[in-house]
Amino acid sequence: MNIVLLGLPGAGKGTQAKIIVNHLSIPHISTGDLFRQAYQAKTELGLRAKEFMDKGELIPDEVTIGLAFSRIGEVDCARGFLLDGFPRNLNQARALRNYLDSGSKQIRHVVYVEVDENLLLERLTGRRVCVGCGTTFHLIYNPPANDNACDCCNGEIIQREDDREETVKERLKINKELTHKLVQFYGDEGILRKVDGAKGIDEVTKDVLGLF
Ligand code: ADP
Ligand code: AMP
Repeated sequence: MNIVLLGLPGAGKGTQAKIIVNHLSIPHISTGDLFRQAYQAKTELGLRAKEFMDKGELIPDEVTIGLAFSRIGEVDCARGFLLDGFPRNLNQARALRNYLDSGSKQIRHVVYVEVDENLLLERLTGRRVCVGCGTTFHLIYNPPANDNACDCCNGEIIQREDDREETVKERLKINKELTHKLVQFYGDEGILRKVDGAKGIDEVTKDVLGLF
């Protein structure tokens, strides 16, 4: 089963993705995580990507599409995958459709995690992530059991650089219109389902899993 999780930054895609892939036993592909891993490994791609990420801007399509497709082409994705943060615009969505078509595959479900913009600022500025395993926390809604240590791996918990207020506002501005167009695109294809992402984490998971 090939799934796309759509939603503005902070909607809860990453949080839900990690839970859902465990239920469905498919890989979680987050282009944001792939770029952050590339940066941590100090690759040329990672260093270039960081400049865009720090400004809250999207990384150019030719880079992002290549990265996403090479991951989707790996053997563990043959029986399904969940995309989080890709596609982010219509060009990426059309490229994905063509790429999957050429292998006689398709996206079966697109789940739009809908959250009001006012809530997103609070979600993103309060987000904290583990540098070790990438687990996401929130200072108020999903705090770690011990301050500054990850519940899963005891790794250090930090704030992402692009989660500072000014960058968050820029990211929301850039992504709003693009996400709206993707909702229309997948709505026209008849594969879009919406879930109310303002609910608690467990309730959202239940609603998402209820769709499959
Ligand atoms: P995205 O991947 O869409 O950018 P995240 O999954 O990283 O979003 O979630 C953004 C922040 O909001 C994180 O701090 C996360 O812990 C928190 N969060 C996610 N889902 C919910 C929810 N349903 N209710 C409250 N907080 C949430
Ligand atoms: P995310 O982890 O999904 O919030 O993404 C963090 C950052 O990575 C974004 O602000 C972009 O700079 C970059 N990025 C992630 N996915 C994409 C994408 N599909 N297209 C372009 N840039 C992306």
